[in-house]
Amino acid sequence: MAGTKILIVEDEEALATLLEYNLGKENFDVALAGDGEEAMLKIEEEAPDLVILDWMLPKVSGIEVCRRLRAKPETRNLPIIMLTARSEETDRIRGLETGADDYLTKPFSTNELIARVRAVLRRIRPGLAEDKVTVGDLLVDRVSHKVMRGEKEIHLGPTEFRLLDHLIQHPGRVFSREQLLNAVWGSDVFVEVRTVDVHIGRLRKALNKHKQGDPIRTVRSAGYALETGR
Ligand code: CA
Repeated sequence: MAGTKILIVEDEEALATLLEYNLGKENFDVALAGDGEEAMLKIEEEAPDLVILDWMLPKVSGIEVCRRLRAKPETRNLPIIMLTARSEETDRIRGLETGADDYLTKPFSTNELIARVRAVLRRIRPGLAEDKVTVGDLLVDRVSHKVMRGEKEIHLGPTEFRLLDHLIQHPGRVFSREQLLNAVWGSDVFVEVRTVDVHIGRLRKALNKHKQGDPIRTVRSAGYALETGR
């Protein structure tokens, strides 16, 4: 699944390297963090699509990272797979109560982990890696680059298309301007943050051309999200 970023938060270097290698082989983009503090920073900077989170971590524990992520609107729906040791049977249950989407008990096979990753992504983001994505009355066809709103076709410039394509893959999730810059323009390109506002403005105007309502929500001091609607 190219373009799908996974953050592995694991302080055991050998395991982290093994997971990085195997997920990389499956075409996931992989980022690593070695403790809970680094995890929070990387999630903020890189906006991963899914986090593999070890329970026992230095500085901030996995369970605390999970709690913090669930408490923030930007990361409330971020998929989390928790890793636990066999002895932490009760912790497992608490892990799910804290809001992890799934958990795996160590030791596990990398095939099992990859299967769980795919299952969680499918459940939470059914539009991922599909050619056509629908949210509310919006449809994005990524093969023909066609966008429909209800019965009407919407014409978008290439940048507005990429913005919408990114937002529609994560309906309801709030992205900061910096995160949208990285996702749509790439982190190696110098573009002013304000440019994001300009293109969001154009995207809004195009989507609301037939007065069907503005599907993009501005979250003050946080960023933008595509409303899941109805
Ligand atoms: Ca650990």
